[in-house]
Order: sequence, then C-alpha cells, then structure tokens
Amino acid sequence: MSEDAEMTSYPHLLAPLDLGFTTLKNRVLMGSMHTGLEETGDWNRVAAFYGTRAKGGVALMVTGGVGPNQEGAVFPDATRMETARDVANHQIVTSHVHKEGGKIAMQILHAGRYAYGPNCVAPSAIKSPISPHAPTALDATGIEKQIQDIVQAARLAQDAGYDGVEIMGSEGYFLNQFLVTHTNKRDDEWGGSYANRMRLPVEVVRRVRAAVGSDFILIYRLSMIDLIPNGSSFDEVVLLAQAVEDAGATFINTGIGWHEARIPTIATSVPRAAFASVTQKLMGKVSVPLITSNRINTPKVAEQVLADGAADMVSMARPMLADPDFVVKAASGAAAMITPCIACNQACLDHTFGGKLSSCLVNPRACHETELRLQPAATSKIIAIVGAGPAGLATAIAAAERGHHVAVFEQSPTIGGQLNMARQVPGKEEFHGLVQWFQTRLAALPITVHLNTRAKVEMLSRFDEVVIATGVNPRDPGIPGQERPHVVSYIDVLRDNAVVGDRVVIVGAGGIGFDVAEYLLHPGPKTHAASEPNLADWRTEWGVGDPTLHRAGLLPAGPKPPEPARSVTLTQRKAEPLGRGLGKTTGWIHRTKLKRQGVRFVQGAQYQEITEQGLVVQIRGQAPELLAADTIVLCAGQVSENRLAKALTELGEPPHVIGGADFAGELDAKRAIDQGTRLAARL
Ligand code: NAP
Ligand code: SF4
Repeated sequence: MSEDAEMTSYPHLLAPLDLGFTTLKNRVLMGSMHTGLEETGDWNRVAAFYGTRAKGGVALMVTGGVGPNQEGAVFPDATRMETARDVANHQIVTSHVHKEGGKIAMQILHAGRYAYGPNCVAPSAIKSPISPHAPTALDATGIEKQIQDIVQAARLAQDAGYDGVEIMGSEGYFLNQFLVTHTNKRDDEWGGSYANRMRLPVEVVRRVRAAVGSDFILIYRLSMIDLIPNGSSFDEVVLLAQAVEDAGATFINTGIGWHEARIPTIATSVPRAAFASVTQKLMGKVSVPLITSNRINTPKVAEQVLADGAADMVSMARPMLADPDFVVKAASGAAAMITPCIACNQACLDHTFGGKLSSCLVNPRACHETELRLQPAATSKIIAIVGAGPAGLATAIAAAERGHHVAVFEQSPTIGGQLNMARQVPGKEEFHGLVQWFQTRLAALPITVHLNTRAKVEMLSRFDEVVIATGVNPRDPGIPGQERPHVVSYIDVLRDNAVVGDRVVIVGAGGIGFDVAEYLLHPGPKTHAASEPNLADWRTEWGVGDPTLHRAGLLPAGPKPPEPARSVTLTQRKAEPLGRGLGKTTGWIHRTKLKRQGVRFVQGAQYQEITEQGLVVQIRGQAPELLAADTIVLCAGQVSENRLAKALTELGEPPHVIGGADFAGELDAKRAIDQGTRLAARL
C-alpha cells in the first residue's frame, strides 16, 4: 500500500481560500516552471498544457517566467509580454484554462544579471558566477524603464485574461539583486541602506497594483532564505514582506536559494518539505496568505505542512508535470494513483537548461499533451510484455489504460528492474514511491503479472503483440584478474549480496559508479525499507542554518559532510573530469558530495591488472600505480539483454524491442518510460 493510501482526506489542502474578490477552490498552487512550450510558438500546445492541469483541479497556476522586455528576458528568444500579438497568444491559454474551471497568473520574470544576453542589466556591473555576460549597471532612468516595462507586462497580462500576476522577486533574479549588498553596490536612492535596497521591489508591487486595480491576484515571490554570502537577514525578509503587503500584494510566495547558491534546494536528495519551516517563520508577521514551496510532492506531505500552520497554501510545480490530476485524485480518495514526482530533474529542469522542451521522466505526456495521446484502442488485443523494469511497466500500464489485456513476465521475484537498485542509494529514496506506484497501477488495471517466470519463445505465440523489455546486463570490462574473489559487480553491491571492504576502487564513473560510491560511503548494507532522509543531518551536511539566527540561512561553520564509512576511489578511462554525463542540474551535487567525503577521482586511467592488493592502472601515460583496494566494484556500463528478441526474430515473429534491450548506451528510466509509453500509444 502506498503511504498515501492510508490517508483519504485532506481537509486543509482541499479547503477553499476566499480572497474577497475571488475564491480559490483549494490550497494547491502550481508553481512556475519554464517548460519551453511558449518558445515553440504553438500556443494551442501551451493551452493544452495548462488546460490539462486546470482540469486536474489545481486552484491556481503560475506560468513559466515571461520577460517584461528584451534585456530582462532569461535568454534572447525567451517569451515576453510586450505587444498586442503577445496578448492574443496568451488569450488562447487563459480562455482554455477558464473553460476547464481553473485560474492562472502570469509570472513576470526579469532576470537581471542572470539573463543570458549581452545587454543584461543589474543594480551593479557584477557578473554572476553562472552567467556568461557581465551586466550593465542601470542609471536612474534605466531603473524607471524597468519598472514601467514590468507594470506594462502586468497590464497586458490582465488584458490577456489572466487572473493575476506573480512578480518574481526571488532566486537571485533582478529584484532580488537589488536587495542584497552581494549584488547591489549602489550609493543612490536604490542602494546603500536596506530601505533603499528594497525600494525597487516595493515600488514595482505598488505600481503594478495601481495599474491593475484591486480585483486582480498579485503574488510576490520573496526570497526567504538566500543561501548565499551577504544575502538578506531574516529581519530584512520580514521588513520586505510587510512593505510588499502594504504595497498591495495578495499573496507572498516563498523563494528558496539563489540559483548560484551551492546548496541543493529541490533535488531528490533534499528531504521532503525541507524549507516549509522557513515560510512558517514569516507566518503571523504579515496578514496576506503565504505560500510555501520546495520538495512537497504528495498530498500527505502538503496536508501536513498546512496542518502544521507552516503556510496558507502549498506550491507544487514538478508534481503537476508528473500528474496533472494530482488534486482530483487526492480529492477522490485515489491518492495512491498519483504518479509521483521523484524530483530527479532529468526530463524537466535538465531539459530546460539543455535548451530542450521539458517533459517528465514518469509522465512523458507532460508538455506533449497534443502529440502523445493515449486514446482507447480500436480493437482490444492480448499483449505480452517480457520484463518488468521501467520500460515494460510503462508499456503495460499505458496499453492497459487503452483497453488492451496485458500479461507481464518477469524472471525475478519483484517488479521494478533497475529502479530497485536506484532506490537503495541514499538520497534516492523517492524511487521507493515510484516502484510502489507501478505496483498500484498494475493491480488496478487488466494486467496479469507473472513473477519468477522466464518467458520462453513458445509461451509467446498466443499473443497479438509481444514486447521485449528484458533490459541490460553489466558490460564485461575484460580486465586481467577480474575473476578474483574481491572483484564484484554493482549488482552484487546494490543488492547487498557482496561483502565490501574498507578500501574500495570503483571501475567506471557513470551514473551507476557515482551511485555505488554514494552507497558505499554510508555504513551498510542498507535494507530495502523506505526511510525518509534525516532533515537535521541534511542541513548539517550542506551548512543550512535557521535563517532567523544566521544571515541568509548559512551556517558560519559551513558544510560538514558525514564521516565516510569507507575510502573510495572512482576511476574512468576518459581523460576528462568525472561526472560530466550526470544530470545538468544535479551532477554538481553528486560531485560535491563525493569530493567532500574524500573520494579520489581518477581520470585517464588505463586498467592493467587486478591483483590481490588492488587495481593497477596507468594514469595518462605515467608509471603504473597500484590503487590499493580490499574490494573492486565493476560499474563499466551495460549491454543489451536481447537474446529472446533475437530468437523471436529468427522465427519470423519480430517483437517490439524497447528500453535497454533495444539500446543500452545512455539508458535511463526517462528513455525507457518514454519509449514504452510511445509504443503503447501505437499498439
Ligand atoms: P555509463 O553512464 O555508460 O557509464 C559507464 C562507465 O563505465 C563510464 O564511466 C565508462 O567510462 C566506463 N566504461 C565503459 N566501457 C568500459 C570498459 N570496457 N571498461 C572499463 N570501463 C568502461 O553507464 P552506467 O554508469 O552503468 O549507467 C547506466 C545508465 O544509467 C546511464 O546511462 C545513466 O544515465 C543511468 N543512470 C543515471 C543515474 C542518474 O543519476 N541520473 C544514476 C545511475 C544510472 P570510460 O569509458 O571513460 O572508462
Ligand atoms: Fe519530477 Fe523528474 Fe518528472 Fe521532473 S522529470 S517532474 S523531477 S519526476
């Protein structure tokens, strides 16, 4: 049973919120996400994305950031709200959302020095560590222009039918840059004292309110814990919140951490609702409703946050990519059916930062609503699926949803395939929920699962369609001496089938090599039970303190990683920094964690031999070196397990082959689930 199955009602989460001029039907806000859909120019597609989520019951949605002008847009071609044409495009979205019974606010995002354009502007000419361009410091006239452009964007948003706007004042963007001495070195009325530094955000809220009238939602997203040196103190946060309320905000939403902060704020290793207590500290200091955010991904967690009095409303962004019907499912007692966001960033933020359209690892239909449809099948077929890893499971569920009858054959005693190894890794506990969700969906659909069953050619002839999702096998790296007893595979380690000594060398530094290193730095073995990561330990590890005691929430002592349980060396043959292929937005977290715990990174290694003492390598042509080890773990990638597919093809009955069985390189759950779902849509 899923953890949410035991809870069937969410009285706080589903309570309406009366704003005087309008009422929100519950306490769920879909937080702003840049999906890349607007930039496709296909506004019907944008409308389908938001309309689907409005139909799913969320009370209020905030769009991805929309630039008020060219210099403030996040990148040169990023979407903006400036012209009558823009208004007409956005009207397509708002009318669709309203037709579905939803409400939507447009986020006005001025990126300031974070803008990826050569003419970006900021309070002072200080380049950010994550931007290619140094900004131009604005003069007083330039500041006035920015205010006017933001006000104009708000007015146009109102013309376009939006129910409100969110003014983005956090995450280190333009308005946030004025607030702190880290980025504001001015000595005019817009800099110096805090009263001067907060003048711009407050003025923007005041002028926007004056322009849009009283019956229009105005959310101000306020950075409550900057997580950067010289960020705001909590007293300053309170002062700003009160001033923003006085200036006319309807809501204050929570921003956590600047983008340049080196502390994870939304990655899967961040404990759930880790920052709700920050919003809670502002409760009672203002009278407008507060919205809390970050790593809230189930109705149960959201309900608890509200029941604890941490906020008046909960913002969830990525969970609405994972399941647009989050709210209706929670409200109808079907919370266990909610497709869980595992906070991996692999198909959402990693795509955004890679210049690709967003989607979702667990829901490939996200942002592809008009193109990837799962319509009822014209004829109900009998389908065999071999392999119950993510590819096979995704196919089974989508095919059964379309009306097919599905039989799944899995040779092991459990479903989940490689997800069962991922969920063993500390910081990847969300994978437990994903496997559980697959289990729940299988049970609810016309799917028969045959565990402990190795499918054979002759068993498959009675099916209309056969799908081979048999996955992968570990690649044999062929290192002399690898048959020695102290050499094990990642599968043995992650299944707790190996005794691992104190000194470990890991051969291969892909996603699995990094995962195995993380696993072995913790005392183990671990059990398969789902356990929540400890918030206090996580805060200590990353140096996150109480923002009311420590400016910007940074502990003066800095990060304090846990004592490593083992000494670990991670090796690869490529002569490039390790971890390049990890997720764009999460790779740095894994690299930082491992480095802080003393893991030695070896690049450019030529593997010569495994001896009783360890692994002998030649590093970039130097003399051979022994990397002493009690245990050597092979994580050298994978090759397809496609024997059954070949046998069927040779018999003249070619099956559908998906996931790792189709192509093992760069395999991850994202590709497996996407490929499986797309196949099911065609069957
Ligand atoms: P991988 O990412 O392809 O990495 C394989 C590693 O083995 C590389 O470091 C490679 O480096 C090395 N290697 C390749 N051929 C070798 C050989 N013949 N001898 C010795 N070393 C060899 O594969 P993986 O780590 O097994 O991961 C599989 C997939 O799972 C990945 O594509 C990844 O996307 C996914 N995954 C993702 C995550 C995540 O956090 N997103 C976590 C785990 C797994 P050299 O060739 O330089 O030696
Ligand atoms: Fe959540 Fe991962 Fe989907 Fe992004 S890709 S919405 S983080 S499950």
